[in-house]
Amino acid sequence: MVARKGEAPLPKVNPRTGRTRLIAANWKMNLNHLEAIQVVQKLHFKLRTSDYEYCEISIHPPFVDIRSLQLLIDSDRMNFSLGAQNCYFEAKGAFTGEVSTQMLSKLGVRNVIVGHSERRSIFQEDDGLIAKKVKAVFDSQMIPILCVGETADERSDGLSADVLSRQVSTAIKAVTPEVLSNLVIAYEPVWAIGSGTPASVKDASDGADLIRGTIESIKSKEVAQAVRILYGGSVTSANSRDFLESSSLDGLLVGGASLDPDDFAALIEA
Ligand code: PEP
Repeated sequence: MVARKGEAPLPKVNPRTGRTRLIAANWKMNLNHLEAIQVVQKLHFKLRTSDYEYCEISIHPPFVDIRSLQLLIDSDRMNFSLGAQNCYFEAKGAFTGEVSTQMLSKLGVRNVIVGHSERRSIFQEDDGLIAKKVKAVFDSQMIPILCVGETADERSDGLSADVLSRQVSTAIKAVTPEVLSNLVIAYEPVWAIGSGTPASVKDASDGADLIRGTIESIKSKEVAQAVRILYGGSVTSANSRDFLESSSLDGLLVGGASLDPDDFAALIEA
């Protein structure tokens, strides 16, 4: 695993929650491997040692950038976790265009985003497929970052709680409690992603509490307390601190604001 190598300190557990904060950068289909190297070098230069102590920082580039970033992070002993944005659940075979969890694990990937709303809506991924991906990521000794969240229509129809509990319960059903404690869930209201209008801290915290309650009712309080829950949707350096002050939230999944190293460093430092 490339992650956590180097001289910078390991992130400390948040004493208020007993969990380690995580800030994950979802680059989506942006930045080629040369641009990726520049962005990560600049980000590393901007961050202070204490930033790495505060939280785990996970970078999720396009697949084609991963090998270059693995080499950079490894050789320069940077304290970033390497991430992926997607995976397939089968180990190998005739699945043109797909990438297996074993392949990602071999590249030193630590965290894999699963079930992002763009995968659900553009690529028609359903809860059943996402559940298989969550299991495959765990089976390859990596951590899934499971994305859940309601659309604007579901929200206005009063269905947010139903959607969240269905998405969470289907995804975790087949996972054993010992493994499940390592899960990360990103609560990403679909209407907040890329819109410039984030959820309020209260709505984000209420969503996270509902997700934790769902895990508790299906598995146990112990597992529910261990799972890390992030907020994602139009987070910037102007609002990141507000979300991180909520004891319901363990970090952030950041899209647009993670592409520019100055913005992303400011967001972490805020
Ligand atoms: C995302 O795509 O997961 C996301 C949160 O995007 P943005 O920060 O741009 O809203």
